[in-house]
Amino acid sequence: MPELPEVEVTRRGISPHITEQVIERVDVRTPMLRWPIPSGLSALVGGQRVTRVERRGKYLLIEVGAGWLIVHLGMTGTLRVLPRAALERLPDKHEHVDIVFGQTVLRFRDPRRFGAILWHARDAGDVADHPLLRALGVEPFSPDFTAQLMFDRTRGRSVAIKQALLAGDIVVGVGNIYASESLFRARIHPARAAGRIALSRYVALAEAIRDTLAEAIAKGGSTLRDFVSSDGSRGYFQLDYFVYDRAGEPCKVCGNAIRQIVQGQRSTFYCPHCQH
Ligand SMILES: [Zn+2]
Repeated sequence: MPELPEVEVTRRGISPHITEQVIERVDVRTPMLRWPIPSGLSALVGGQRVTRVERRGKYLLIEVGAGWLIVHLGMTGTLRVLPRAALERLPDKHEHVDIVFGQTVLRFRDPRRFGAILWHARDAGDVADHPLLRALGVEPFSPDFTAQLMFDRTRGRSVAIKQALLAGDIVVGVGNIYASESLFRARIHPARAAGRIALSRYVALAEAIRDTLAEAIAKGGSTLRDFVSSDGSRGYFQLDYFVYDRAGEPCKVCGNAIRQIVQGQRSTFYCPHCQH
């Protein structure tokens, strides 16, 4: 499943190819993904120039004069920049939407159809106030994301720290993989009550979250050229994990066996020796 690093790498991959380019039309072959694609989308954005491609949480925001296309990759979605000649071959059944530019096509492919393409008109106000975006926590690379914020927002909460991270209302983008990895690096046990973690430990956790996500983005950056190939089958890149998906294998720091537990129906991996 694409997490924040994959979405950010996608943003960096497509942005240079579509920014300042004029959308000619949008070809929608599958009108229903996770939610319906707005009808008349082609008329709304046709003739409009892309001014920016931004990201908020796992949403990509493609800004044009009249508003924003909001794109979510769901569980299996990809966006790829293809030469316009790609329109000449028959699309496969998972290639649901083409945003057509003069020289290129931005193609949305999503076998499981949990992704979304939505529209937020500028008349409706700032896109940050969109119902899907306004309740999101702070961005992990924003100066607003601090240990103090995590400390303040968790006082009095008995929820496990792993669950508090996954909820996304304090900080966005720390999905299942990155929660386990960040907690390992900060040496915090994933089941520890968020409200009982000291500020000094949140300093380590905030740094671990930023480092883990930044490393994943950097690793994805080395595959950027894949965003302009016609091959939509490549899987998502992976970090060399310390704990994630390594149950029973030796901890890379202490050699003890990594353990797996279930929290909120999601698997958590941790080292019982290094994390407390
Ligand atoms: Zn260990």
